[in-house]
Amino acid sequence: MSRAADLRTLLDGPEAEIRWMVREWLSEPGHAPVCDLPREEHRARVTEWTEELAMSGGTAMGYPAQFGGLGDVRGSIAGFETLAFGDLSLLVKCGVQFGLFGGAVLHLGTMRHHERHLTAIARFELPGCFAMSESDHGSNVQALQTTATYEAATGEFVVHTPTPGARKDYIGNAARDGRLAVVFAQLISGGEPRGVHALLVPLRDAGGELLPGVAIEDCGPKLGLEGVDNGRIAFDQVRVGRDALLDRYATVHPDGTYESPIENPAKRFFVMLGTLIQGRVSVCGASITASKSALDIAIRHALERRQFGPPGREEALLLDYRTHQRRLLPALATTYGLHFAQARLVDRLHEAFCVEVPERRRRELETHAAGLKAAASSHATATIQACREACGGAGYLQESRLPALIADAEIFTTFEGDNTVLLQLAAKNLLTGYRDQLGELDPLGLASFFAGQVIGTIAERTAVRKVLGALASDLLPGRDDGGPLRDRAEQLGLLRWRQEHLLQGAARRLKGGLDAGRDPFDVLVDCQDHVVEAARAWVDHVVLEAFAEAAGADPALDRLCSLYALSRVEAERGYYQEHGRLTAARSKAVIRTVNALCAELRPDAGLLVEAFGVPEMTAAPAAAMR
Ligand SMILES: Cc1cc2nc3c(=O)[nH]c(=O)nc-3n(C[C@H](O)[C@H](O)[C@H](O)COP(=O)(O)OP(=O)(O)OC[C@H]3O[C@@H](n4cnc5c(N)ncnc54)[C@H](O)[C@@H]3O)c2cc1C
Repeated sequence: MSRAADLRTLLDGPEAEIRWMVREWLSEPGHAPVCDLPREEHRARVTEWTEELAMSGGTAMGYPAQFGGLGDVRGSIAGFETLAFGDLSLLVKCGVQFGLFGGAVLHLGTMRHHERHLTAIARFELPGCFAMSESDHGSNVQALQTTATYEAATGEFVVHTPTPGARKDYIGNAARDGRLAVVFAQLISGGEPRGVHALLVPLRDAGGELLPGVAIEDCGPKLGLEGVDNGRIAFDQVRVGRDALLDRYATVHPDGTYESPIENPAKRFFVMLGTLIQGRVSVCGASITASKSALDIAIRHALERRQFGPPGREEALLLDYRTHQRRLLPALATTYGLHFAQARLVDRLHEAFCVEVPERRRRELETHAAGLKAAASSHATATIQACREACGGAGYLQESRLPALIADAEIFTTFEGDNTVLLQLAAKNLLTGYRDQLGELDPLGLASFFAGQVIGTIAERTAVRKVLGALASDLLPGRDDGGPLRDRAEQLGLLRWRQEHLLQGAARRLKGGLDAGRDPFDVLVDCQDHVVEAARAWVDHVVLEAFAEAAGADPALDRLCSLYALSRVEAERGYYQEHGRLTAARSKAVIRTVNALCAELRPDAGLLVEAFGVPEMTAAPAAAMR
């Protein structure tokens, strides 16, 4: 086997066969991404593709066997990640239908919902929506305003949009295809508010006509993902039966009595959201795939395109220029690192679905999913843009695929949790380790939490005597005698030091502000950038740990791993110097080592992108596809 094939085997992991099948499908004529179809035709094409994939049976892989699946979460995510090499509208349509909509029915519903709907959902015979976001509340979904009021006299819920801002917004599958929606609403029973719950609400009849009381409008043209029919939904006193409630975590009895095994409404809501974590992990994987596609295009271009060069000799390849190496190779290294971190995360998620794991492990999973999704999607946006620029004018043409990648993938930073909000969630979990006593994503919730006693516990756990005062000198090594920069332990030590230092500093500032009697919200706002940076630094370390383990003895991966670690240190060298962790001389040595690693990796760049296995996809002219 070639080195690229060996590397592909490593990257594809235990799900190689599933990845191979999806690549084959993408390589077939008529399955290549489209970029020049009018919007409605693009949507129709994406719907046809979705039907075709559903007929193959692959889209149900994560569902239990009795509903046509294999109960294989890892395989289902591997298929989704590989599908992200193709048209991202198709990916998102599938994500909404089989992941979000089907996933909500599976994880929030009970057997009667599964038996009634899951097989039809998996076959795309029942297109559906995941209607959570509202115009006035996107990130702060706990405050959404749609109501579902139970009427004991009729045994029905009345689903209603009380204000224009409470309409469901941006909802995938709504504008054209959706017939049933999982609607998140404030549940009211026995006259009491019960918090946010999910209900199944029919939108259209089998002929596609809107049902009475349901109003849907198209969101109109978007930056990208034009093949997905996003829409806005409003409900006018729509009645659904008592069994419409997805009642895994709460039941409403015929007389309106409410019952839930989780007493705290905020906790119940976050347990419910936690079961939907697979969507976030899937978007993380898709972001990594989008980075791979862009790097494959830009690096192959840079290995063919020549500009300038020494007098009297052939012009040099773009990738022979150090600036070009620096634009692409650290991004390549980060993409590999994220790939390995994602593989670890998916393994843990798979395990959590297969066997009962302790609550602590579930929280860790949530923290990893939030942090890694934020890192991977931000990285994809930056990398695709860098690749566009690295291809010059050629990268601006639709035929390069980069414009479509820019337009389609950048929303990954916003949906399945906005990145800034997710990093705060990760930081909150890291800072406390006691999420039971939390329950709210909003800043005030976090600040109120710190106003409680738990900070004292953190103080003990992190030897906070040192942290709460001026940081003691032993936390600030101020040394220039670290090991060689290529030494993995040294690299891990540098990244770990930064994340711990940021986290401890954030805890100290929060505690200090609260002790001074300041308003908790103001305290958090003042420290927010610090808190988010702590989460980012933590992800850097998580990625390096996964990369270091996966790199093993492979020389190219070993260098790539060092390039990842040291380019992170280089990007933050101001911080390291400000805090006395790197001297000016050692900081310059980091820059030199990054340059040396770029030069050493230059000969391997081609095989490192070949290993991604981006399928050959020949786009048919739009006219031929109509
Ligand atoms: C193409 C597309 C498809 C979508 N599909 C669906 C779908 O199928 N179903 C569904 O339910 N939703 C869907 N959404 C909605 C999506 O989930 C939301 O857009 C997302 O959650 C962000 O909410 P928002 O747009 O209201 O932004 P906001 O919450 O208003 O955020 C705006 C900005 O404010 C910042 N911000 C917000 N809160 C804080 C804070 N506490 N601290 C600091 N900064 C903050 C954010 O970082 C962001 O930059 C989709 C959106 C798009 C664009």
